[in-house]
Amino acid sequence: MGQVNNSERVIRRLYEITNSYDLGFDTQIEQILQMGLERFNLDIGILARIEDNRYVVKHCVVPEDVELVSGIEFDLDTTYCQITCQAKIPIALEHIGKHDRYASHPAYQSFGLESYIGMPIKLNGQLYGTLNFSSAIPYPRKFNPVDIDALQLMTSWIEVELLRRQQEKRLIELNLKLEKKAYEDSLTSIPNRRAMFKHIKTDLNRISREKGKVALAIIDIDFFKKVNDTYGHQKGDEILIKVAESLSNDKRDYDFLARFGGEEFLLWLPNCDTKIATKVCERIKNNIENLALCDHPLTISLGITCYRAGDLKELANKKRIDELISEADKALYRAKASGRNCIKFYQRSYTSEHQAIYE
Ligand code: GH3
Ligand code: MG
Ligand code: MG
Repeated sequence: MGQVNNSERVIRRLYEITNSYDLGFDTQIEQILQMGLERFNLDIGILARIEDNRYVVKHCVVPEDVELVSGIEFDLDTTYCQITCQAKIPIALEHIGKHDRYASHPAYQSFGLESYIGMPIKLNGQLYGTLNFSSAIPYPRKFNPVDIDALQLMTSWIEVELLRRQQEKRLIELNLKLEKKAYEDSLTSIPNRRAMFKHIKTDLNRISREKGKVALAIIDIDFFKKVNDTYGHQKGDEILIKVAESLSNDKRDYDFLARFGGEEFLLWLPNCDTKIATKVCERIKNNIENLALCDHPLTISLGITCYRAGDLKELANKKRIDELISEADKALYRAKASGRNCIKFYQRSYTSEHQAIYE
């Protein structure tokens, strides 16, 4: 009767602890260890991780005079858990000093613990570690099946929870990877259009707040169709990767580069007026030309528009981005029409500051 009540108490307490997710995993484990110690009337409770024959204390509840903290490691062979792991079943020992076989076990020699009850913890069939309780004094009675049941219940929850946490961690990692992929161009690994709009939107807000300026350049490879026709699409892809690499290397730390589409790239150049934008883009253009990516020099054309906080203020943020892209595109069209391999700026009719370099 007493044992049945004890079992019910274990189940109820375990249910309370395992349902209290707000406590956090570490506290839940500590409470389970505490509960086990009370249930078994022992004084050292440990959740241990076992890896490469090392026994690592992950969580422990011990009397004040026992110097054991989480993180401490032992050789597995110097612990009773070595017996548990080898047997792969729960092990309960009441008086080890008097045990035929285990009185000579290195763990008894090292720590002199007389009583021990422990069980392997397995995740997906693989040994993770053990849950074990022990004491320096012999156990006053025999461990019985109800004790093993109680240990089994605690172990099962820990197994399920560890597995859930492992899967949750994998899911978070996978989501992060997917998120990264969603914002990355799969061919060149630089940011894609989606990332570009996200970045420009945020940065335009910053520029408005700081009354700053920016230049937006659209870069288009000249006669790229002919490159594909001459060398094949595969070589065309390789060239696109090299161009993206070169542009990435040439941009300043705080610039932003994205693949705008096909053989077009967008460069966002904060703090640039026409003069600095010309300098940055000339350098970029020369470096691409010097890459020697195919038999003839590969050239690019650039269309640029400059923006200052306050420009286009009649437009909402999203429309302002579309407008800036459209302006740069018009400038690019002029660059192509002027024979390619050159830089052209868009002239916004109602701004006077940008006119110095306009045609
Ligand atoms: P222009 O000087 O007027 O820009 O001439 P162009 O041939 O570069 O211009 P157009 O826009 O007519 O052609 C762009 C070409 O880029 C067409 C397309 O086959 C090629 N292209 C677009 N995306 C890719 C890609 O991902 N890989 C490869 N290899 N080629 C691409
Ligand atoms: Mg194009
Ligand atoms: Mg082109």
